[in-house]
Amino acid sequence: MANQDSIISVRNLEKKFGNHLVLKDISLDVTPGEVVTIIGSSGSGKSTLLRCLNLLEDPTNGEINFKGENILGNGFEITKYRSKVGMVFQSFNLFNNLDVLENCIVGQTTVLGRSRQEAEEMAMEQLKKVGMDPYIKAKPAQLSGGQKQRVAIARAVSMSPDVLLFDEPTSALDPEMVEDVLASMKALAHTGLTMILVTHEMAFARDVSDHVVFMDKGVVAEEGTPEKIFNNPKEARTKEFLKRYL
Ligand code: ADP
Ligand code: MG
Repeated sequence: MANQDSIISVRNLEKKFGNHLVLKDISLDVTPGEVVTIIGSSGSGKSTLLRCLNLLEDPTNGEINFKGENILGNGFEITKYRSKVGMVFQSFNLFNNLDVLENCIVGQTTVLGRSRQEAEEMAMEQLKKVGMDPYIKAKPAQLSGGQKQRVAIARAVSMSPDVLLFDEPTSALDPEMVEDVLASMKALAHTGLTMILVTHEMAFARDVSDHVVFMDKGVVAEEGTPEKIFNNPKEARTKEFLKRYL
């Protein structure tokens, strides 16, 4: 049963690639305004889970409910859904042929049907928040990784999403760029946006998360508050994983 308070409610989710079972019986509830962090070793299925939540992958079995509606049901409107549940990728995925401002406008006008002026105002507001408003005419190739990621965040937020997914948003960045991006994400978390993020930045996860999910080999091995997971993990595999980071 979907939890009535949840904005996203995952039930018994399974994903196979061929015969390879990558997600096994995943259940997860995310309430509005919550910041949920997914941690776990490489290959444990974190990206696949996020990609299922955004329907970039088709789950093999199980349920994903968004505001009480099963998004895997027939006739569900995927394009509209993706504007409600946005994604920030490790590799930025900006439109390289468009400048910074256009990157933040195009989805708003084409998917949301906003006027050019309305979209531009929203884009400028979000670019200011991440400190990228001086770069509106720059093309992505002229920016550092950290700057590109801040534009990607502004672009995602410009769509007024209900939920934003982040898949290792700082993993491709030089160390000196990481703090700016984490600061932008922390500011967003404080606006009450619902966020689900995959990260290896454990200090950040401990600081901003309401809930932490530890994945191991395609299952949720342990979950709970940051205090519980980081200070008092119960499972041997959680302890083993955290030893490498803390
Ligand atoms: P993580 O993000 O935790 O590192 P992934 O979700 O990327 O893990 O991958 C989980 C497992 O699924 C890995 O064994 C990976 O090789 C496999 N996998 C991911 N995407 C695909 C795909 N498109 N085709 C086949 N196998 C995949
Ligand atoms: Mg991954």
